[in-house]
Amino acid sequence: MDADVIIVGAGPVGLMLAVELCLAGVRPLVLERQPQIRDIPKAGGLSGQILELLRYRGELERFEAAGTAALPAPRLPWGGMHVDFTRLADPPMEVLPLPQPLLEGVLDEFARELGAEIRRGREVVGLSQDDATVTADVRGPDGQERVSARYLVGCDGASSRVRDLAGIPFPGITYPEVQRLAVVTVPESVTLLEGGDIDVAGVGRISFGFTRTERGEFALGSTNPELMGLYTSEEEATEYDDNEPMTVTELRDSIRRVLGVELPLGEPTRLTRFTFHARQVERYRDGRILVAGDAAHLFPAPGVALGTGLLDSVNLGWKLGADIEGWAPAGLLDTYDDERRLAAERMMLHAQAQVAIRRGHDPAAIALRELFQELLVDEQPLRRLGGLMAGSELRYPFPGHDHHASIGTFAPDLALDTDRGATSVAELMHTSRPVFLDLADRVDLREIARDWQHRVDVHTARTDHRPADALLIRPDAHIAWAATIDEPTATAAVALREALSGWFGTPLKATVPIIDRPS
Ligand SMILES: Cc1cc2nc3c(=O)[nH]c(=O)nc-3n(C[C@H](O)[C@H](O)[C@H](O)COP(=O)(O)OP(=O)(O)OC[C@H]3O[C@@H](n4cnc5c(N)ncnc54)[C@H](O)[C@@H]3O)c2cc1C
Repeated sequence: MDADVIIVGAGPVGLMLAVELCLAGVRPLVLERQPQIRDIPKAGGLSGQILELLRYRGELERFEAAGTAALPAPRLPWGGMHVDFTRLADPPMEVLPLPQPLLEGVLDEFARELGAEIRRGREVVGLSQDDATVTADVRGPDGQERVSARYLVGCDGASSRVRDLAGIPFPGITYPEVQRLAVVTVPESVTLLEGGDIDVAGVGRISFGFTRTERGEFALGSTNPELMGLYTSEEEATEYDDNEPMTVTELRDSIRRVLGVELPLGEPTRLTRFTFHARQVERYRDGRILVAGDAAHLFPAPGVALGTGLLDSVNLGWKLGADIEGWAPAGLLDTYDDERRLAAERMMLHAQAQVAIRRGHDPAAIALRELFQELLVDEQPLRRLGGLMAGSELRYPFPGHDHHASIGTFAPDLALDTDRGATSVAELMHTSRPVFLDLADRVDLREIARDWQHRVDVHTARTDHRPADALLIRPDAHIAWAATIDEPTATAAVALREALSGWFGTPLKATVPIIDRPS
């Protein structure tokens, strides 16, 4: 074996998986066809629940340090309008500006620090697998070679070769609209007005935000007075390669077609073009081959693909680690498909809705947008949508999830008081190991958890308004089990043992019964 796991693709998702596998104690080998990180402006930053997860890992500062700007106010495009999360004291959706090439640089460095091997200039061109091994044919600078591992994960993007070679169908829709997104400096003939509008010499006033015309959609917006953010969306017959850069002339022509004006443009700092798809793989796993990130799902909305893909890696890393280290309970690896399919379906729900909301110029379409604009001023719908976009509302249907409302959810960052001082759930998760958290001095439950202390960190703490007597938290920060307040030992102990052995395998003491993951 050349490695425990071969990762195909050193995009953000592949590199994040390399990090997570190293943290889980296994050896990944990353194969990337490009000789170096390409300076293509794709995603402009990280957003949603992945930011929380990085904070729980104790690594968010590493990403913030590489970021290009402070957290902007969360007023985000959604369905051809802006949703203003600044109305909420605790916005559920935040954005960390970190252009994708810089993000890949941070992840590359992080993965190497942890011991991952990353080979660039290596393209995977063939695959085969048997009961124990998967083998990849790789084209590299010295010709063709073969590498093998226990598992292989295709993190090789939207046109995934791994997905095709494994015969995994990728059904869905490609939408006809072409989106163009750019940031340019403000030229002399353009004056910025209050409220974000601009005055263009010889043209007149152009409004901040989205403008719909019969030809498509135009948007103007910026968080920096020296820069203009521009966006167009229009139906086109031409098929573009998302990896081929857009030019200023192409953008100017598109603005002319959509808005009907000749808009002077300064120097570009970002030029991107992309097409929207709504697709998800029929299965995330075929034997020893798995897929993650854009190789597994594509959403017809901006700003959500990257975070969803990175969270695929977080979900998969510890499960593959458990399998390779030989302690995974039966069925653990299959939960990757169940859980991340649900996550992508939730993301797809609002992404697909955005297609309908931003389309059309007729009175019905305008009324639909106006209605949503009204609804999204109220706190409850705004919170609901923010949670959906961020992925924070996601609740996995774990065994026993009817027992306690927190089972399956992302663990809240409770402030904790312990005998060794103040701490928090986020701090306890820095080890990236499972955590058993006793919040009510439940010696009965703590003693049971200690039978798994070779895999699970056991903590006792106090917190104001405890949500449960005890929590069992997986390495991806989702709550695997919870005891209700004052739950009798008789029921809590049985359920805790089931959860511990169902998620984390065999206990230390041979006398404790081993239970397979309950279905
Ligand atoms: C113009 C544009 C703007 C975008 N803006 C945003 C945004 O604002 N927010 C957001 O969330 N998302 C955005 N996205 C989407 C985001 O870029 C993707 O979701 C993200 O790149 C997915 O990461 P990934 O690692 O799954 O795939 P990729 O980033 O596509 O990485 C796949 C890697 O695999 C390599 N590879 C492919 N085939 C092989 C092979 N056979 N052998 C070896 N290596 C291979 C590729 O070279 C590549 O490095 C944008 C995308 C585009 C194109």
